[in-house]
Amino acid sequence: MSLPPLVEPAADLSVDEVRRYSRHLIIPDVGVAGQKRLKNAKVLCVGAGGLGSPALMYLAAAGVGTLGIIEFDTVDESNLQRQIIHGQSDIGRPKAESARDSVLEINPYVNVVLHNEALSNDNVLEIFAQYDLIIDGTDNFATRYMVNDAAVLLGKPYVWGSIYRFDGQASVFWAEHGPCYRCLYPEPPPPGMVPSCAEGGVLGVLCASIGAIQVTEAIKLLTGVGETLLGRLMVYDALEMEYRKIKLRKDPNCAICGENPTVTGLIDYDDFCGAVSDEAQAATIGSTITATELKEWQDSGKPIELIDVREPAEWEIVRVPGARLVPKGEILNGNALSGLPQDKQIVLYCKSGVRSAEALAAVKAAGFKDAVHVQGGVVSWVKTVDPSLPVY
Ligand SMILES: [Zn+2]
Repeated sequence: MSLPPLVEPAADLSVDEVRRYSRHLIIPDVGVAGQKRLKNAKVLCVGAGGLGSPALMYLAAAGVGTLGIIEFDTVDESNLQRQIIHGQSDIGRPKAESARDSVLEINPYVNVVLHNEALSNDNVLEIFAQYDLIIDGTDNFATRYMVNDAAVLLGKPYVWGSIYRFDGQASVFWAEHGPCYRCLYPEPPPPGMVPSCAEGGVLGVLCASIGAIQVTEAIKLLTGVGETLLGRLMVYDALEMEYRKIKLRKDPNCAICGENPTVTGLIDYDDFCGAVSDEAQAATIGSTITATELKEWQDSGKPIELIDVREPAEWEIVRVPGARLVPKGEILNGNALSGLPQDKQIVLYCKSGVRSAEALAAVKAAGFKDAVHVQGGVVSWVKTVDPSLPVY
């Protein structure tokens, strides 16, 4: 829907700025007035990762005057396949600082504001209040709902995006003029149902496709040109090379932006989204071993059946010696239960211990009462038992 410009124009553009932005200035719909609005704009990027990378780089190049970056993580080698704002020499550095350096290299006229911390209930309202627009590039549901609720409570618009394997989605949420994220997704998916990028993977270039949509929407909102994605969900399928738009409506029963809201302040988002289901949490009590204990069990000749519940692609990368692969889905749907031995203690592991906890609940419910899972999964095995193996 068409909206008035989000920000007023800056007083003027310098001679250098006119030269730099000339290809914008000669677009009639942008012009000097539009460029001055970008100069006056304050945009916050939540995350400097897959989506934050292209978003920050193009927002900087476009001449957005103030760019906020909130990011607490450090650059890891496994980020570089898609997080193009960081480079080889940035490995180990705070992502916020690495992103700032890249932004200033692209455009020294940008005022970069670093928030080198995790977004939380304690700071989200105070930080968001300093900006005209928020770009959400987070990859977990707890932060996603927190971003939405804070934006609704402050009356701010934000541009949302999400990516997984070959699929992406993007939209604009602004409760004062249309739907919010909770109107689209009232409840988070059950814990363990939707794998994260770390578990399921993401095609690196997908970040550019969705990040570019987010920046396009940001520029449209800031300058007041075109029809934004407010009230529409963009769904991108890279394999089919297909973009679809789905109409979204404001939900009158939305918990936060509906007629009788039940959420009137920030809530406990970890609790709301739940990293592990209640059943899985209960199953792990007294049935969890460490990677070091697993190694001791193996060395002692204890009769165990070691089962890797990850997906085949992950098994190809790294595995614990002596394990066999039974993906979690085969255990949860019951197909693999009859193949489990009755005369050995079952030991389950996954990448980090979340999926194996879910599988453990199913295995114990099927009668394998002494089954256990490995805390921290194969990542912990590599760290504490065999650092020569790769982590992913
Ligand atoms: Zn809503």
